[in-house]
Amino acid sequence: MSPRATIVGSGPNGLVAAVTLARAGYSVRVLEAAGAAGGSARTAELTLPGFRHDVGSAVHPVARSSVWFRAFGLDRRVEWLVPDASFAHPLPSGPTAIAWRDLDRTAASLGADGTRWRRLIQPLRDHLDGVVALTGDHLLRVPRHPVTAAAFAVRTALLGTAPSLALRTEAGLVLWAGVAAHAARTLPSLAGSAAGLLLAAHAHAATGWPVPRGGAGAITDALIDDLLAHGGELSCNENVVDVAALDWGDAAAGDVLVLAGSPRLAATVPGIPGSYAAALGRYRYGPGLAKIDLALDGPVPWRDPDLGRAVTVHVGGTAEQVRASAAGVARGRLSPAPYVLVAQPSVIDASRAPAGAAVLWAYLHVPRGAAALDPSEPILRRLEEFAPGIRDRIIGRHVTRASQLAARNPAAIGGDGLGGLLTLRQAVRSPVVSTVPWRTPARGVYLAGSALPPGPGVTGMPGWYAARTVLTDARGSVPRLEDLFGASAMGE
Ligand SMILES: Cc1cc2nc3c(=O)[nH]c(=O)nc-3n(C[C@H](O)[C@H](O)[C@H](O)COP(=O)(O)OP(=O)(O)OC[C@H]3O[C@@H](n4cnc5c(N)ncnc54)[C@H](O)[C@@H]3O)c2cc1C
Repeated sequence: MSPRATIVGSGPNGLVAAVTLARAGYSVRVLEAAGAAGGSARTAELTLPGFRHDVGSAVHPVARSSVWFRAFGLDRRVEWLVPDASFAHPLPSGPTAIAWRDLDRTAASLGADGTRWRRLIQPLRDHLDGVVALTGDHLLRVPRHPVTAAAFAVRTALLGTAPSLALRTEAGLVLWAGVAAHAARTLPSLAGSAAGLLLAAHAHAATGWPVPRGGAGAITDALIDDLLAHGGELSCNENVVDVAALDWGDAAAGDVLVLAGSPRLAATVPGIPGSYAAALGRYRYGPGLAKIDLALDGPVPWRDPDLGRAVTVHVGGTAEQVRASAAGVARGRLSPAPYVLVAQPSVIDASRAPAGAAVLWAYLHVPRGAAALDPSEPILRRLEEFAPGIRDRIIGRHVTRASQLAARNPAAIGGDGLGGLLTLRQAVRSPVVSTVPWRTPARGVYLAGSALPPGPGVTGMPGWYAARTVLTDARGSVPRLEDLFGASAMGE
């Protein structure tokens, strides 16, 4: 009889672990608390019929470059749509700073900072596989591409401590601040810098910042199709609050339990050492995320039409305002001019809304203690500055407060959508200090959520590393992706 694998959580990491183990011969069952699978990689008609909104992730550079998703053949399973402008940031004083996919065009548009931007990003863009290998691994492992790792580390240190030594113009600094702010940390910071460099390197690669036609749910659908094709099962509305009450099988017989939500759940495993549970309790979570989804009766009336060329728009004002916004969140107050992250997939994907109409999501980071804040007004005020009249285009609105995100997804502690506060210390301690943090001290129990290395984003890598650890423990040798997907898939 096949060993059983019970996976708690059907976000990208749970599903990647599930697909891996099903393909390796396990009898897999995925338990999901919500009424639908996919976690933060889901698409739903949140506002009006025919308007398909991304519940969480919208833009997927790190899914497309992920080592696991490449082996899985995600490029064959979803249709990627790639905007010419990877991300854009309107400046209050007039022009828009744009990270075009074309690096030459970007450099030309950045004036005096063009050469500096190129020097910072091009070596990473040119060795994107090395950057992906580095950032897609556990920090406690020796990098496989030391030269690229060194180039990445030097830039992370510089931009993470003194960006004004690296870039001098407002356009260059704002382009950088907007992308570094994805990490929901103070700026400058090493975590923001590492995230910003990873994303900026993707921005200028041929694969760009893509969206799957139909939304993030297309990625989840591809995973579920493969899971079911390999005999796996998925049950929704199954919230696991206490592992002691869960029948997941017999570890001595090779059955395994993979927790792909919050690592906190591992504290309920019978017999888990108190010191381990205490370490999980010390793991820190980041600011909450509060989001609005809009159904619009036409395109966003951006003052600068070039903003309609990018799916991702950083509405954060000046570089100083982006910095102040992040600092405010860390200190417990929302800035009067907050940094708002906008995704407008309709500029490239007509399938998301009825003809002529559009969907848009926008979110901001909210301080701890402001989980109940309705973000509508702060976000709409900010959008109006750069897209006057946008309110008149709104025909449907869906609000997700940080507290609602936390209630909907037990992995989003306090509404933290990134699985934990991104710091260097936490990257080492994710969530406990170990070279194999995916394995818990309880026999047969593993962790796979985005609190685990290599962290957040739709990469599936924490799920792959958890499943790889399961298979290594069971079989005594490290499995290779080729064995699961075939050598031909690896070459694609
Ligand atoms: C608003 C938002 C926007 C984002 N934008 C992007 C983006 O554009 N690009 C990108 O790459 N990333 C983005 N991210 C981050 C990305 O979505 C996450 O990093 C990724 O989804 C994490 O995957 P996961 O499987 O670890 O967790 P999740 O996607 O959070 O899924 C966890 C799942 O486990 C379930 N679960 C948890 N605990 C239990 C339990 N005890 N019992 C049963 N089920 C349980 C949850 O209900 C959930 O379905 C965004 C996140 C948010 C919230």
